Amino acid sequence: MPIRILSPDVADKIAAGEVVERPASVVKELIENSLDAGATDIRVEIREGGKRLIRVIDDGAGIPAAEAPLACQRHATSKLQTAEDLEQIATLGFRGEALAAIAAVGKTTLITRSRDEEVGVELRLEGSELRGQRAIGGPAGTNITIEHLFWNVPARLKFLRAESTEAGHIHKILTRYALAYPHVRFSYAPEGRITFQTPGNGDRMAALIKVFGAEIARQMLAVAGGEDVAAPGIVVSGFASQPELHRANRSFIELFINNRYVQDRNLTYAVIQAYHTLLPGGRYPLALIFVDLPPDMLDVNVHPTKAEVRFREGAVVFRAVQRAVHRSLVEQAPVAQLRPDEKGREGWAARRQHLLAAGASDPPGQLAMDLYRRGLEEEAAPPGPSETGGAMAPRTGDAEVLPPLRAVGQIAGMYLVAEGPGGLFLVDQHAAHERILYEQMLQAPAQPIARQQLLQPLTLELGTHLAGLVAAHLPTLAQSGFEIEPFGEGSFLLRAMPALLGRQDPRRLLEEVAESLDALADQVGAAHEDELVKIICKRMAIKAGQVLSLVEQRDLLRQLEACQNPRTCPHGRPTLLHLSATQLERQFGRT
Ligand code: ADP
Ligand code: MG
Repeated sequence: MPIRILSPDVADKIAAGEVVERPASVVKELIENSLDAGATDIRVEIREGGKRLIRVIDDGAGIPAAEAPLACQRHATSKLQTAEDLEQIATLGFRGEALAAIAAVGKTTLITRSRDEEVGVELRLEGSELRGQRAIGGPAGTNITIEHLFWNVPARLKFLRAESTEAGHIHKILTRYALAYPHVRFSYAPEGRITFQTPGNGDRMAALIKVFGAEIARQMLAVAGGEDVAAPGIVVSGFASQPELHRANRSFIELFINNRYVQDRNLTYAVIQAYHTLLPGGRYPLALIFVDLPPDMLDVNVHPTKAEVRFREGAVVFRAVQRAVHRSLVEQAPVAQLRPDEKGREGWAARRQHLLAAGASDPPGQLAMDLYRRGLEEEAAPPGPSETGGAMAPRTGDAEVLPPLRAVGQIAGMYLVAEGPGGLFLVDQHAAHERILYEQMLQAPAQPIARQQLLQPLTLELGTHLAGLVAAHLPTLAQSGFEIEPFGEGSFLLRAMPALLGRQDPRRLLEEVAESLDALADQVGAAHEDELVKIICKRMAIKAGQVLSLVEQRDLLRQLEACQNPRTCPHGRPTLLHLSATQLERQFGRT
């Protein structure tokens, strides 16, 4: 093909692709525009995960009627004039690309009235082309609607996820801005119903409660907003979780630089570092960290979506964040968890060491948990060849029967010792139970897991983030034994839970399941369903550290024997190790 300049239409679409990846990108850009326009009330409506419709209504400054058509063209901005201005960016937008990009890939209706003008204007655009323009009355502010996103970019349309997934992304964007801008009242109305609203009274704690729920908000420590002597000009503030509150991944650490949500591996690590040994291995804190610094110490023009920034002095910012979070932990963590003599770096690790050394009868289950965790850490390394009795090679597909096993006892609260015709078996109770549940759920999908009615229905305030997830996965949760129904904004009524979980805290359990669902948000179809089932099995399976009676042990072994693939858990790890009579004899030097 000869070299040619691309037609403006193609060039527009390519450029738009960098800014608008999915419905949530549109929502992000529009909210940023509303904030830049000084709005105090921002309402977001979506339909069908934003694929059918996205609407953002604000009470900001509005666009003068004569300038409105220009606003939708590429490189048109009121926020920047010279290249030098780039060093002093005080607005969220500045590239003049968003409206143009959005208009290029959706059917857009822009209604806006400037605060300084009597009459507003309505523009209709389709794929960058102005299709209509008329004068219109209405309140000052901007109301922009995008319908049929990617109607003219089938390749993009194909890559969009399920509606619930896209809606989840949008919801996340909203909650982030709600936290960063507590003076602004945000409302979110998917499918015509308001599910989330912040008071907009300037109280960040109120926003925090709205987003995470009162329970979690209560366990967050304030990160003091003072300026650090070692880092002049940099102010770090926000919230960080008490050491008792943690999560399995780092996705609950959110960073805002000059009130812009950004992703930054380094600063995320700074937060984690501040906890040092305070958290168990493989667990991460929750944190919302706001870093404010002079705009000239920052380059926000790194990425079309402005999701990343570069610092002039990254190391200084890193230390400021780490110190601020650490200080709040040391000063505010409740006394019982952080005794004075254990304050600082080695406290928790030392206590754990001590516990292990003492053989730890106190607190119950702690030793088993520690051993379990160490096991997990070791698991991370690839398994080496073992001399004494190997793990059963993970096999899938054809059925492989287990010999009848006789329960002998339980060790370390995590393994069952069993005897079979072929020698000694060590069964990992958690992995085995996971396998059992997995096959039960897959083989009898029409027959939901046995549930246990609660004596009294329990109201759970989940906070909108988790509430959104739970709402999106109600059918799967029902299938797994949770009888749960929406009960107003962010709350649910729990009527029954899986019978097997009778002894666990329903709230925590539901939270954990919902969070894992969140982690899966990007998978689709059958793989997604299967992963879901696995997650639920993992949560429901008896844990290491749980003492089982001999009857329960027997029961577990019987059920494992009945499995199609009893030798591995759904994630492919072995459920049991076998030491044959011959191996035992060899080990004891009898042969
Ligand atoms: P940028 O935000 O980078 O300037 P955009 O394409 O997002 O570029 O917007 C172009 C211009 O349109 C903005 O600079 C602003 O003047 C105007 N504008 C866009 N959205 C709004 C809004 N909600 N309220 C007022 N003005 C707006
Ligand atoms: Mg913008």
